[in-house]
Amino acid sequence: MALDTPVQYLKGVGPKLAQSLAKLNIHTVYDLFFHFPIRYVDRSRIQKIDQVKPGDQVVCLAQVISVSELRFRGGRKVFQVLFGDGTGHIMAKWFYYYKQSFLKRYAVGKAFLVAGQVSLFRHQLQMVHPDCKNAEELGGEGGEVLPPGILAVYPTTEGLRPQWIARLVVQNLNQYLKEVLEVLPEFVRERYALPRLPEALAKVHQPSGSDLTEAFLNQQSPYHHRLIFEEFFYFQLALLQKRQGLKIVPGIAFEHDLTLVQQFLKLLPFELTADQWKVFEEITADMTAPKPMNRLLQGDVGSGKTVVALLATLLAYQNGYQVALMVPTEILAEQHYKNWVRLLSPLSITPYLLTSNTAKLARGKILSLIKNSTAHIVIGTHSLIEDEVEFAKLGLVIIDEQHRFGVEQRGRLMKKGKMPDVLVMTATPIPRSLAMTVYGDLDLSVMRHLPKGRQPIMTRVVSEKKRPQLYQWLSEQFAKGRQAYVIYPLVEESEALDLKDAETAYKNLRQQFSEWQVGLLHGQMAEAEKTATMDGFVHNKIQLLVATTVVEVGVDVANATVMLIEHAERFGLSQLHQLRGRVGRGAHASYCFLLPDYKQSTLARERLQIMTEHGDGFRIAEEDLRIRGPGDFLGTRQSGLPEFRMANLVRDVEILQQARAAAAEILAQDPKLENHENLQQKLSEQLSSRNRLAQVG
Ligand code: ADP
Ligand code: MG
Repeated sequence: MALDTPVQYLKGVGPKLAQSLAKLNIHTVYDLFFHFPIRYVDRSRIQKIDQVKPGDQVVCLAQVISVSELRFRGGRKVFQVLFGDGTGHIMAKWFYYYKQSFLKRYAVGKAFLVAGQVSLFRHQLQMVHPDCKNAEELGGEGGEVLPPGILAVYPTTEGLRPQWIARLVVQNLNQYLKEVLEVLPEFVRERYALPRLPEALAKVHQPSGSDLTEAFLNQQSPYHHRLIFEEFFYFQLALLQKRQGLKIVPGIAFEHDLTLVQQFLKLLPFELTADQWKVFEEITADMTAPKPMNRLLQGDVGSGKTVVALLATLLAYQNGYQVALMVPTEILAEQHYKNWVRLLSPLSITPYLLTSNTAKLARGKILSLIKNSTAHIVIGTHSLIEDEVEFAKLGLVIIDEQHRFGVEQRGRLMKKGKMPDVLVMTATPIPRSLAMTVYGDLDLSVMRHLPKGRQPIMTRVVSEKKRPQLYQWLSEQFAKGRQAYVIYPLVEESEALDLKDAETAYKNLRQQFSEWQVGLLHGQMAEAEKTATMDGFVHNKIQLLVATTVVEVGVDVANATVMLIEHAERFGLSQLHQLRGRVGRGAHASYCFLLPDYKQSTLARERLQIMTEHGDGFRIAEEDLRIRGPGDFLGTRQSGLPEFRMANLVRDVEILQQARAAAAEILAQDPKLENHENLQQKLSEQLSSRNRLAQVG
């Protein structure tokens, strides 16, 4: 297979350059074809300086005549480069720059492609913060500046010139394009008016002047659509097929016996919400069916997912099966455990707790109880997936705050039973478009509405100046019997520093609120200390809890009504929403104050503004996704998201839906793709290339 040829063996590459290409995820010829230009330069559109007018958006090819740095009163500085092309001059200006690297880059005599909007300043043409490309780097062989025609500019990495990549692509397109087969079924291409794959690839890598329309440059041409569709389609096909596979294997068919559930509901001090009922019904339908349940419950913060999990647990218990509930933190495990002990004791059911905190002796005992099926309900952290944990009859696996776990961990817990039913829960309301992509192999249940009687949480961005007033107001809240959190971010790279932040703040706040009890909670404290602090807060022996994001997930203290978030600009919106969700859990009015660093950018300000305007986690998640992009949104590492080369999950939702529909339609007629040998082959190729990537990564 020529398209499978490792790039290393291509003319002019070799092992060293192949390594650099690997950094761009280019391993084979095929990958190379899917490495797309980020922009195009049309040689024929380069303008002479004497022809440009103020207001125009232009590209010029010009040389550096001189450089200078100006200082204004007040300390502002500007870096200036005077460019000339033989017909005139234009001044480029930067207000943000690194002087040393700018001096090096803009050496007198060097030629650049200078792009930007032209304006007039004191009778002189200027461009502020233009986009400059070193023309030599873009140039062809033999030192010639810029080849004729249209130049595709490729994303690159250290040690690879964009133009070298361009040449490599063109060379191999000429040789291998004929090997690119059209695999999409005809009816799909026709329905969505998609050009053939070889044509789309050729156009995107080597457009002609007339191709470069606005739509094309915005990746909205039919050729782009085709390539985006391509990426989504195979991914969806693989996901749907996997899901189909799961449905074929037999699982546990629980009996529809709700005796315990009914008893429990009578004891519950509240009525289930309509959402909770709906989801519980979806879960019962899955559990009583003979196939394994594989369901994602997505519920906004505070929507009451735990009770639903408990109901499912009771159904499994009734049927004589064991249940494992896995959560990401010790604090959360203990909280769930205490709650469940309280809720289940009237039914004479005993849950068990297993975390790394569990003392050795007790641990051995619990492990044997799990093994001989005396322990029916086990709540725990990652400890549950350790090898020594063996279940006798595991029928239901529940994973809370599932976004904190990797796909692999989910799998390991599942393997402790024989095709157990699986319920994963997340409070990160992943927008539907994304859920479909990431968790396409899961069925989705959604709880959007909170239980009645919840008060909206008033959210404000507070400036540093107002801090004293805020503290004054806080004291008043404590006097009224309320409690508060103060959150400090912990960023991985500077964890030690940030921790110091939290500790210093803790000391200061203890002085500030000397009449009240202030507690500190972070992930690196000893477990016993953490538990003691959390207990103190739960019982209002501590009024103010200074914490890192360890409290982000799940913590439920109804009397805490104020959430103060320091360095709010450092958090993602969904994370802020999670944190905010720690308050507003009781009957009292609740508040969230965002204290950003004063140096925040406009973008940061805009983001925080969204928090003050929206209380709905789904809306916020959509905004977050829009601003940050999917990789960041989920944390690429654990998201299991493939890296799309051209497709964009936010921009291209519509194409995603089309691709999914097409994939589903094909699988409905031909579940094993027996009549679509090409597709089958393509899928296995993609799988093997993904495995290879996984090994590299
Ligand atoms: P989350 O979905 O964020 O995990 P929890 O399950 O922790 O939410 O529930 C949040 C709070 O709401 C808990 O204190 C729980 O007891 C309470 N709760 C759950 N369901 C209801 C309901 N139907 N009516 C009133 N309160 C409820
Ligand atoms: Mg929860």
